[in-house]
Amino acid sequence: MLNETTIRIFLVDDDEIDAMSFERALRKSGLNFLLTHCNDANKAMDEIHKVDYDCVFLDYQLPGFDGLALLRKFKEAGITAPIAVMTSQGDEKIAVEMMKAGAFDYFPKVEVNPENMLKIVRAGMRLREMEIKKLQAESALKENNTKLNAILESTKALVFSIDSNLNYTTFNTIYKNIVCNLFGTEPILGLKAADSFTFEANRKLISDCFQRVLNGEHLSITEEFGDPDKKSNYYDLLFNPIVGEDGKINGVVVYGQDITERKKVEWEILESKIEAERTAKAKSEFLSNMSHEIRTPMNAIIGLSELLLKENLTDKQHENMKSIKYSADNLLVIINDILDFSKIESGKVEFENINFDIFLKIQEIRKTFIFKAEEKGIALKFRVDDKIPQFVVGDPFRLNQILLNLLSNAVKFTKEGTVSLLVSLVAGKGENVTLKFDIIDTGIGIPKDKLASVFESYTQAYTDITRRFGGTGLGLAITRQLVTMQGGQINLDSEIGKGTTFSVQLDFVKGVVEKESSAEELIAELLEKRDFDGMRVLLVEDNQMNQFVANQVLELWNIKVDFADDGLQAVNLLKENDYALVLMDLQMPVMSGYEATAYIRDRTNRLRNPEIPIIALTADAFPETKKKVMESGMNDFVTKPLEQNDLYSKIKQHCLKTVKA
Ligand code: ATP
Ligand code: MG
Repeated sequence: MLNETTIRIFLVDDDEIDAMSFERALRKSGLNFLLTHCNDANKAMDEIHKVDYDCVFLDYQLPGFDGLALLRKFKEAGITAPIAVMTSQGDEKIAVEMMKAGAFDYFPKVEVNPENMLKIVRAGMRLREMEIKKLQAESALKENNTKLNAILESTKALVFSIDSNLNYTTFNTIYKNIVCNLFGTEPILGLKAADSFTFEANRKLISDCFQRVLNGEHLSITEEFGDPDKKSNYYDLLFNPIVGEDGKINGVVVYGQDITERKKVEWEILESKIEAERTAKAKSEFLSNMSHEIRTPMNAIIGLSELLLKENLTDKQHENMKSIKYSADNLLVIINDILDFSKIESGKVEFENINFDIFLKIQEIRKTFIFKAEEKGIALKFRVDDKIPQFVVGDPFRLNQILLNLLSNAVKFTKEGTVSLLVSLVAGKGENVTLKFDIIDTGIGIPKDKLASVFESYTQAYTDITRRFGGTGLGLAITRQLVTMQGGQINLDSEIGKGTTFSVQLDFVKGVVEKESSAEELIAELLEKRDFDGMRVLLVEDNQMNQFVANQVLELWNIKVDFADDGLQAVNLLKENDYALVLMDLQMPVMSGYEATAYIRDRTNRLRNPEIPIIALTADAFPETKKKVMESGMNDFVTKPLEQNDLYSKIKQHCLKTVKA
């Protein structure tokens, strides 16, 4: 009966009797078999290919063909069935030869009996089964490799792997081509991967990465590969360990991409960014320098108009003079804004921490707007929550600037109704107080779609209205920066035709109560006592106009002024004369104010009074300038245009002290 379990056996034996006893033994063994018998070696060569035999038995002695030769022929022909060899007598040597040639068993014919046949056939079958499994595994592996290769070759990335001896185990064509192009070498499976990298730096890096990944790291690097003297190629490489079935790392797989193009784009972006930043900085510096230059003549105009206004003018002249003064003041505000803005843009802003009377500050701010509001017929409402501590620590100048900006907008954009400032206490934990300033107007309002953009520099909500109202569109940009740089918040709510509310929240620290006479009281006192009568002051200033303006002011107080056009002249005068005070401009030809101060303070230079009070005259009021002035050894500073009250109190503070001392 032939079925799936039938074992197909092929017997090559020229001895008919032996063949019969072979068949008999098989039959008695109980095996389900089908025997094909062939008595000629040549015929057997044909026959063996016709059926896929499970087991083959060869007689060693065949006429004209020994069993060994036939065995070799079968093996050469690719016969995979297990082959056993039988002989008439046992011979060790032949046995060894047979086994070497691929026989799985060798036995003398006397041992042909049912029991042995069963054993031998079963052993052969087992062998066959193993052989089949091996073949299947091999073909599966081959198929897998084909698939893997297809994957490796279908990616645009480079892929290669190495074993724990750092030898190549795979690589794709892309990798091969890259290696050929960059290094002039060809990767070879089974050879050291690092040897492909002919440039020392690359080789070191790659060997180092292999080691680290074999130790368990996952790496990702971006590096330049190839000849360092030529144009470089950049690659992103990912290194991952290959973990074997035993859980140990037995290799490294590397996946990578050429990112040279992307790098180029990145560089271009970076370059244009640097260029843009440089342009912005240049613009900002230009603005800063320009506004600085413009301020000097502006100071003269403002100072002189102030003086002229005090003269006996006709009504018409007085009116015109007031207009000049008003325009000049406005122009100065714009110039200051630009200077401020460029400082903010270049990150040069520092904030003060000063103890100040916030009620007084708000009072002063109110005074600034009374006239303008009255002129426009608008009501001005200021309310400060009395829970707020009177003294706080913060930057009063910046607070002033913020509120002036917002209030002048409110007044500017309101035709009728009210402009209010409400100051309230939001939170007060321990030493900290958060204050909220609401600036509310009943003006034209801001369209919804412009709410965000009004904070941008040089942006105005209505371009047509701008001409009517004036301004540069910098106010809110500066204001927002000043608020946020101090850690505060600014919000905006507006409705067309109804009005606008700006809310600013700022943090302060609770201050200490100071008893101080107001500036007005101070001046009244000074004027009464005429403390400066006959005082001799050295004014160091290169600008003739500024000299003139300052002199006019000082003369009011009966001060006798000597002039020096630069630091060097000043130093020489100080060697020969006694002065109560030096008023020192900072930027001057020949010797600057800073240099002159250093020279005066240096005792080895033997000036008459190395400790003479020196007050700087500066065009800007920034804390960093102030810091520099104080660090250089000067005692104080006043800003141009000269604020009479300020100058008065500072002269008093520094001179009367030394006069008495
Ligand atoms: P600058 O303040 O530089 O002199 P400006 O007042 O036009 O000029 P910003 O203060 O920055 O500039 O204000 C920007 C724009 O926002 C204004 O031009 C105006 O259109 C709008 N705006 C600001 N405040 C108000 C307000 N209270 N009511 C209506 N519109 C306002
Ligand atoms: Mg404004």
